[in-house]
Amino acid sequence: MSEKKPATASKPTKLVGVKGMNDILPPDSARWEWFEGKVRHLMARYAYRNIRTPIVEPTALFVRGLGEVTDIVEKEMYSFEDRLNGEALTLRPECTAGVVRAVVEHNLLYEGGKRLYYMGPMFRHERPQRGRYRQFHQVGAEVLGFGGAEVDAELILLAATLFKELGLRDIRLELNSLGQPPERLAHRSALIAHFEQHMDVLDEEAKRRLYTNPLRILDSKNPALQAVVESAPQLLSFLGEASLAHFNALRGMLDANGLAYTINPRLVRGMDYYNLTVFEFITDSLGSQGTVCGGGRYDYLIEQVGGKPAPAVGWGLGIERLLELVKEQSPPMAELAPDVYAIIPDASSLPAAFKVIESLRAKGVAVQMHAGSGEGMGSMKSQFKKADSSGATFALIFGADEMAQAQVTVKSLRDGAGSQRLQDLASASDWAHTLQSAH
Ligand code: ATP
Ligand code: MG
Repeated sequence: MSEKKPATASKPTKLVGVKGMNDILPPDSARWEWFEGKVRHLMARYAYRNIRTPIVEPTALFVRGLGEVTDIVEKEMYSFEDRLNGEALTLRPECTAGVVRAVVEHNLLYEGGKRLYYMGPMFRHERPQRGRYRQFHQVGAEVLGFGGAEVDAELILLAATLFKELGLRDIRLELNSLGQPPERLAHRSALIAHFEQHMDVLDEEAKRRLYTNPLRILDSKNPALQAVVESAPQLLSFLGEASLAHFNALRGMLDANGLAYTINPRLVRGMDYYNLTVFEFITDSLGSQGTVCGGGRYDYLIEQVGGKPAPAVGWGLGIERLLELVKEQSPPMAELAPDVYAIIPDASSLPAAFKVIESLRAKGVAVQMHAGSGEGMGSMKSQFKKADSSGATFALIFGADEMAQAQVTVKSLRDGAGSQRLQDLASASDWAHTLQSAH
């Protein structure tokens, strides 16, 4: 049935995107593509393989994996019921849990450990501000099935190398160890005793978490709590011999590679799944949203989501924050311009011109083809104007006279003189290379 038009049609209201979820437009999208290419090449050099998991996962995966008393699970998840079967689903707020689910589900550790990486959108219902969005993107690396400190070191060096190869400066590394569950338990008692002596300064959230997840209080962003957080007992002093040995082995390997770090005994990270190593890469150039990458070991998560116990370690990196730094610190990117703008004065030349344009593209020449309004191709003058603003190095003019001679005019748009020459259409693939710049 066709929609009936009302007699006095009102103008449809303009639809806008969801708050905190951004469009990534050209020319900025070129920086994203460039970055993704760098990541792929680097991951290949470290022999990490790509994994792609769904954006929607069962809500239980995150509740169980990340911990019920965490910022993400308490207030940041986009959760909904499947309209058809009532299943509780959530847009992934992070990807470690999904990777672990996939690894367990497909029994990937059957033949030994795995080194994996992913890139993609994550969703958290946070207050949008610079460096904090509701849809944002992460690159993550996860190493599963290996318990030694050497993979902790490899992952940290991999991130540091990425920053170096992106031309970034002033990203510092902070390191801590959260020890093992029994050590955490002893620390937990000391922590509760400490906070109980400062009930007057605790905020509502801290009070609520005091007996469920006191470690989370150390991660509080409330400035009023900083003093009592700073004087809290440190997990590092509760570590036993094996945990300390792991920490020291990691430090030795970072030292051997000349990677500087500071130990931050208050670094706890936002999810409950971490043990032993935790770390963050932080910059002071982005204001308060300065953590560009965070990660650590999560040796109990695989078991937690129902897999056979196996150790694991990984990190996640915020692409928006990192690209903001790239914009500030890296040399500007070359403008994206085609090699050639194809000027087609008369629509009757289109079929023949199109064929030549396709053969040039097949040879690797970047060609922007003039397209008309639907009512003709437009004047030569307007076509030349578009050729100029496209940034193309050459204009190819498929004029009717040249076409009649089986030729096309190649005009230089950037040599100042506007020099031009005729080329044979039939041999386009032979002279295609003369149009190509490096891209
Ligand atoms: P923060 O303390 O800034 O909230 P987080 O500890 O919640 O960060 P992780 O869950 O460790 O962050 O995610 C890893 C990285 O992803 C962060 O270091 C950051 O760069 C990025 N990130 C996290 N949340 C957002 C967001 N809402 N918008 C943009 N980037 C984000
Ligand atoms: Mg957060």
